[in-house]
Amino acid sequence: MIIQPRIRGFICTTAHPDGCRANVNRQVAVVEGRGALPGSKNALVIGCSGGFGLASRIAAGFGCGAATIGVSFEREPSAKRTATAGWYNNRAFESAAAERGRYARTFDGDAFADELRARVVDAIVEDIGTIDLLVYSLAAPVRTHPRTGERFRSAIKPLGNPLAVKTLDINRGEVRDIVLEAASEAEAHATVGVMGGEDWEFWIDALLAAGALAPGFQTVAYSYLGSDLTARIYREGTLGRAKADVDRAASAITKRLADLGGRARVAVLKAIVSQASAAIPVVPLYMSILFRVMREQGSHESCIEHIDRLFRDGLYGEVLPRDEWGRLRADARELAETVQTEVKRRWDVVDTTNIGDLADFDVFQREFLEVFGFGLPGVDYERDADPLDGS
Ligand code: NAD
Repeated sequence: MIIQPRIRGFICTTAHPDGCRANVNRQVAVVEGRGALPGSKNALVIGCSGGFGLASRIAAGFGCGAATIGVSFEREPSAKRTATAGWYNNRAFESAAAERGRYARTFDGDAFADELRARVVDAIVEDIGTIDLLVYSLAAPVRTHPRTGERFRSAIKPLGNPLAVKTLDINRGEVRDIVLEAASEAEAHATVGVMGGEDWEFWIDALLAAGALAPGFQTVAYSYLGSDLTARIYREGTLGRAKADVDRAASAITKRLADLGGRARVAVLKAIVSQASAAIPVVPLYMSILFRVMREQGSHESCIEHIDRLFRDGLYGEVLPRDEWGRLRADARELAETVQTEVKRRWDVVDTTNIGDLADFDVFQREFLEVFGFGLPGVDYERDADPLDGS
């Protein structure tokens, strides 16, 4: 079939196998082009199929040369329906690893479930013995608690008062004013249940109990703080409360790793276009302006460039600063005063008529489509493609 993007709201319900492969290979080339990266030998990446998790698996697998195990929640293809982009990304990752004779195994299922966790831990012990790095990069809308059965659904909302704010309709390219209702206490609690740190702790506990962690093991979970423009919907909102719980979990995990000489850290990253971030109100408009300003000021980085730098300068280097909470801060370029002052100036005046002059909405759209394997250079989108490709 000829596979075309089919966009519903803030997601694309189709994905292109050739485009996803091109996207993965392009990221592999970036990391390999930067030279070998001293670091992990055996890595587990939870949330490995897209965005920062995929980039991390690529940095570990093709920069460090690590054996990698990935966990993600993706839909496989049928003869009539494409897989999700992450499913094709996983296959492309495995092929690239196989070409280089490198171990790569992927588990698709619910990372929050104890049953999948047990299977992954068994695979580590049987196939590679131990891991020295665990990257925790989940972005999920729901979680069923594995021990209580409680079902949490996250709500991305401000806390306290409603928020009147500008946003961007990413289908129409229109800037609009909206009012976002404040979350109830139950919604805030549920968001922490999904995006907080408890599940990260459960993974570490299961791996520790199985003796699957190598001496000096380290683990990192990803977070976002962002600027004042997104503060009410992000760091001061329900998501921010969940991320504060991830900070708590990092300290708790580090204590449990003491005997191994290991540590757990949170890394604060920049904003990138991903399936998860496109769904957050306000953020697509902020990113469109931010990308333009960072490009103009020469500090823009793609997702893979950002993660490559995190690995080289942060996880396996001492260049990145740490804040008072011990978090690795890779977000300094986004938060630089020169960048934020200019973003704020444009934010105050941006509307539907001038967005093309003030922001890179076209770049946002292009990167959004690339997440699903569309618009990649060198891919023949007129080709009769097989959605089962890779299976
Ligand atoms: P993404 O949507 O690209 O990827 C999310 C991953 O989670 C996918 O691999 C998906 O399959 C997996 N996943 C979701 N539910 C799952 C489940 N139940 N079981 C197993 N896997 C599941 O997300 P992203 O934007 O790369 O975000 C990853 C992390 O980085 C998040 O913690 C996010 O808060 C953080 N972060 C993102 C940004 C950004 O701008 N995108 C910025 C800073 C930090």
